[in-house]
Amino acid sequence: MLKIYNTMTRQKEVFKTIEEGRVRIYTCGQTVYDDVHIGNARTYSSWDVVIRYLRYKGYNVFHVQNFTDVGHLTDDADQGEDKIEKRAREQKVNPWELVDRQIQEYWQVIDDLNIQRPNISPRATALIPDMIEIIQILVEKGYAYEVEGNVYYDTSKFKDYGKLAKLKLDEEKAQARVAQDPLKKNYFDFALWLNARKGDQIHTMRWNSPWGEGYPGWHLECSVMGMKYLGETLDIHCGGIDHIPTHHPNEIAQSEAATGKKFVNWWMHAEFITLNGMKMSKSLGNYVTARELIDEHGGLVMRMGLVSGHYRSAVDWNPQVIENAKSNIEKIRNCLNAIDQTSGGSEETLKGSIKNVKNDFEEAMDDDFNTPKAFGTIHEFIKKINSSLDNKQEIFLEAKETLLELLGILGLDFTKKEESGEIKLNELMDLIINIRNKARKEKNYEISDEIREKLTKAGIQLEDTPNGTRWNITS
Ligand code: AMP
Ligand code: ZN
Repeated sequence: MLKIYNTMTRQKEVFKTIEEGRVRIYTCGQTVYDDVHIGNARTYSSWDVVIRYLRYKGYNVFHVQNFTDVGHLTDDADQGEDKIEKRAREQKVNPWELVDRQIQEYWQVIDDLNIQRPNISPRATALIPDMIEIIQILVEKGYAYEVEGNVYYDTSKFKDYGKLAKLKLDEEKAQARVAQDPLKKNYFDFALWLNARKGDQIHTMRWNSPWGEGYPGWHLECSVMGMKYLGETLDIHCGGIDHIPTHHPNEIAQSEAATGKKFVNWWMHAEFITLNGMKMSKSLGNYVTARELIDEHGGLVMRMGLVSGHYRSAVDWNPQVIENAKSNIEKIRNCLNAIDQTSGGSEETLKGSIKNVKNDFEEAMDDDFNTPKAFGTIHEFIKKINSSLDNKQEIFLEAKETLLELLGILGLDFTKKEESGEIKLNELMDLIINIRNKARKEKNYEISDEIREKLTKAGIQLEDTPNGTRWNITS
């Protein structure tokens, strides 16, 4: 029985879909003005594990994740500038060009991290007519008002505003220090549509609307893109914890006021990543892109590091995370290699373990996608395999298949032989072992010993067993 933590109720709840066997899921996507950083990468990897596991359980998952390519301002209180227009101006490029470039960069990172692409990845700018239509509905229903070419959502009209964030509206209002937009009627009101002209500046990305030339607000975009492709009520909606106080309450207010229906059944939020114990921030110089790390360590190591912790636990990204990921990968590789090289023996012990590991893995994942526990079951299984290496070949093939399947749910693809410049080690080792065996047959021990010594120095240990020669990576 799968239980998922729902931020709305602050509890783990037994998961039920709206339509039998089908999951409609929306994940808040990248604001495409900058490279994917390690925090974004962790959040997307977490949702990838969720989706892969739901598919493994037999659900037909339909996943939509947007690109925010307009309307995300530098300040959540609708002050400041559009992040994309600002960056484009700094780089002296057209905003459309910046967006295109960042989307290409995004896909490369996602593919390298073995994150499955969504079924639909809409750009906010492709749905402007749908957004205008929803704003018109909100204005007609009395939930929105226009001031000087901007349209604001009137939060005083929506009964449960702030329910998700558990906002104590009066207290928050008194404590908040963000600069207020003087055009708003109420403190928590937010922009659905923004006037393209601000002072003597004109927004490059702008569209005609009943309120003049302008562009949509970030919060509205996600409501519209979610409902357009997934229907008025979604099974699951995901985002980082930064979306709990403003972005997601605003999405709920807009969607539910427009449709009169519940917008989302399960709200899932991923914790933030810190870097070497500090908040990740460009201004502090404490910032690292996913690309840099993938280029340095490879996608598999990065993926292992990103999904080892639970998505609701804060994780600190430091050199130890990479070291642990590398050592776990080495253990798995050695086990898979040992399976390829084994033969003979009885199969009873391993048969039981294959069944157990699947049950234990599922039990861990059914508990709000507990990946650290799931990894624990995989490591136990590897120990079991390693300690019964004289079993029959067929049962090992089954063990290998199980291991690869469970790792695959976590997005760890050990079927690919090449990983960012790594040589095809299996083939190469087969070749070296064959040459060494020939030398031994011809009693040329000088050559066979030299091969063994050189490999030991290179971090590969050979072991001659009655069933042939095995190899292990030791460093
Ligand atoms: P953005 O491009 O800022 O809109 O963020 C894209 C996604 O990454 C959102 O779901 C954010 O909640 C998430 N995110 C942003 N910063 C971090 C971080 N430091 N750790 C984890 N997730 C983050
Ligand atoms: Zn969103």
